[in-house]
Amino acid sequence: MDETAATLRGDVDLVIVGAGPGGIALAAEARAMGVPADRIVILEKTEAHSWIIRKYYPANKHVLANYKGIEARCEGVLCIPDLSREETLSYLDRAIRESGVAVHYQEEVHGIAREPDGRLRVESGSGTYRARAVVIAIGILGRPNKPSYPSPRAIKGRVHFDVTSEEIRGRDVLVVGGGDTAAEYCQFLVQEGNRVVLSYRGKELTRPNPINRESVLALERRGRLRLLLDSNVSSLEAAGERIRVRFDNVGIAPLEVDNLIYALGGTTPANFLKSVGIEFDGPSPRLTESFGTSVPGLYLVGDLTAGEKGGSIILAFNSSAAAMRAICEEQGICRVSRNAGG
Ligand SMILES: Cc1cc2nc3c(=O)[nH]c(=O)nc-3n(C[C@H](O)[C@H](O)[C@H](O)COP(=O)(O)OP(=O)(O)OC[C@H]3O[C@@H](n4cnc5c(N)ncnc54)[C@H](O)[C@@H]3O)c2cc1C
Repeated sequence: MDETAATLRGDVDLVIVGAGPGGIALAAEARAMGVPADRIVILEKTEAHSWIIRKYYPANKHVLANYKGIEARCEGVLCIPDLSREETLSYLDRAIRESGVAVHYQEEVHGIAREPDGRLRVESGSGTYRARAVVIAIGILGRPNKPSYPSPRAIKGRVHFDVTSEEIRGRDVLVVGGGDTAAEYCQFLVQEGNRVVLSYRGKELTRPNPINRESVLALERRGRLRLLLDSNVSSLEAAGERIRVRFDNVGIAPLEVDNLIYALGGTTPANFLKSVGIEFDGPSPRLTESFGTSVPGLYLVGDLTAGEKGGSIILAFNSSAAAMRAICEEQGICRVSRNAGG
């Protein structure tokens, strides 16, 4: 027996990498197209599906169907209206259950290669899978964007990229960023009784959606939040138990805070995608209209296809519907034709 056969954990039609909204929708679409549940596997690197929602969404967040102004028009089998964070997780939970597709948790995929018979081999920390088609749905927040200056070791435990790693109440907090995530973190932290400063390098807060922007500006007007526009953090240092934050703007005095939260977004995991042979055009993977890559049989969905503006849950659902239609046409694994049953 060769080494590959010894660690072979599945020989299937479809491997989906990542159990977020995109990966879950892909499984639902595949089932709707007649791919048997036992011919599909989802590999998820963490211990629960929709990890990004669990980690980055504040507890009381309103999940907007038209996030970032992206039209909330559903083109596939999954669709959500505005929901709470918990309702969104329940919806995705139910979608997995109803699909009957197995999610293998704590299986991070680190490689994809071509087998001699033309199929794709997917390598995870636990073994190998063979598949006719592979869909990568790993999003962009596996490694959130970080600032260029260092964070001294002494304060590392107080610097975060989310508001769920530590319960933050009644403290002085600096949020750095200028998009919807930064705006939502500020609202959440103020509600939790913190004294919040928002530092954004832009001259105006133009990136958040109108509701988030107005909420932040209203908090500022009511003296519940300090807004530092046109500000650039230049360094951090320990100040006893606190963090001293310096700015490279002459007029902004250093601040001392208990916690610092970065909301700087994420970037396409280009190294991973290039390592599996996907060609890029500049910073973005080269994709067909239905999200096929330069590697036959390998597709991307969700935030990986959304470009610089970033994606939404419904956009992830829709990309999966389009990718699955292409997989049916190109890979011959579907047992229901696109028009069957309307
Ligand atoms: C703070 C915040 C608020 C947001 N609010 C909204 C909102 O209100 N409405 C809305 O529509 N959208 C919102 N979004 C955007 C939305 O969450 C994303 O567009 C959506 O989650 C993208 O889904 P995805 O499946 O592409 O990727 P993700 O949700 O990022 O899921 C990727 C999954 O893949 C897993 N994974 C990563 N690498 C590997 C690997 N190598 N092997 C196996 N598994 C892997 C991850 O653990 C994760 O579970 C928000 C985003 C953030 C950060």
